[in-house]
Amino acid sequence: MKAEIITSGTELLLGEITDTNTPYIAGQLATLGIDLYYTSTVGDNLKRFTGVLKQAWERSDIIFITGGLGPTQGDITRIVIAGMLGENLAVDEGLKQEITTYFAGRGVEMPENNLRQATLIPSATPLRNASGTAPGWWVEKEGKIIVTMPGPPGEMQEMWQLQVLPRLKTSSDAIILSRTLKVWEFAEAKVDQLMSPYLSASNPTLAMYARQDGINLRITAKATTEAAARKMLLAREAEIRQIIGNKIWGVDSMTMEGEISRLLGAKKMTLAVSESFTGGMLAYSLSGDPDSPSFFKGGIILPVSPGETSAAIASARADAVRTQFKADIGMAIEGSYVTRGKRAGGRAFVAVHMASGAQTVTVDYPGKPPQVVRRTSNHALVYLMNLLK
Ligand code: AMP
Ligand code: MG
Repeated sequence: MKAEIITSGTELLLGEITDTNTPYIAGQLATLGIDLYYTSTVGDNLKRFTGVLKQAWERSDIIFITGGLGPTQGDITRIVIAGMLGENLAVDEGLKQEITTYFAGRGVEMPENNLRQATLIPSATPLRNASGTAPGWWVEKEGKIIVTMPGPPGEMQEMWQLQVLPRLKTSSDAIILSRTLKVWEFAEAKVDQLMSPYLSASNPTLAMYARQDGINLRITAKATTEAAARKMLLAREAEIRQIIGNKIWGVDSMTMEGEISRLLGAKKMTLAVSESFTGGMLAYSLSGDPDSPSFFKGGIILPVSPGETSAAIASARADAVRTQFKADIGMAIEGSYVTRGKRAGGRAFVAVHMASGAQTVTVDYPGKPPQVVRRTSNHALVYLMNLLK
């Protein structure tokens, strides 16, 4: 199945709004193993929109459209589809009822314009919008599919998850499962080299992405049953772990701070941090989750003092912050920006103190300040995670 995405909205072409719907849908299609061949963005113009849709209809099997489902004259997606397919738009009584009820529930009168959102063509079935008035459409004709969804990313993603995804899964007889392994410390080129036989395999496929939390390796397996797909995933994961297992800190939607929270929770331990160089990023990461048990006792942020950093200072500060906040573990980062040859970067020392002893590690990352700080902070989190395991 060849897919294509069309995002509509003149504001996107003016650079006022960044198109986030395309990357969202593209990522979802990749997970499903549906090939995406083209994406385009078009303004709210009948002629040009129709042109783009016609071209998509000729070359693709399934077309995803976002935007232009609002109640105004500028919202022309329904008109464009009806026109291209040669079908008539008519108000659907069921949809009209739903929209009327929606307005009644908010105690406001429904503007006549909103009736546009209650229209359908014979080939379309409506897709419920759980948080707005604009329903989407699922159109099937001549063996092809057009899916329209609202422009606002929140509404679009909700409709995707609740309405579109289940329909896509049932229209294919293959089961597709994915698992993401999160790697820290190895550079992208190194992972690419180590994983090269798997990166060129076709089932399971392996895709590699650089993310803030490290290199993400996503394994995707396709099979006729869920059990078969899962078995393939696990087998490939085991092979990958044989090679870089000690650099994998997490899987799927895990976060570093979530993992630390889990490990500390299991050990009933608390943590306090002292940071120069990372300027509070560690504390921000660790105190961010309001639902996690409060393992985090507090932190101190200190200015960067060039040339005066050392493992010994980091170690002393880890010890001090542990005492000050009466935490089981004290962690400190000390660092400064340095130039090595022509490359700018950071040099930091991470120290961890707990009852069982004290450890330090030197952390060098090249790059500009915000990136180096983020990497150093993540490095400290992974270091702590490994000490807790
Ligand atoms: P529309 O459904 O075309 O009326 O779009 C409503 C609003 O959704 C727009 O004003 C944008 O703020 C947002 N929006 C529409 N399309 C996109 C897109 N592709 N990416 C991100 N935001 C969008
Ligand atoms: Mg619009």
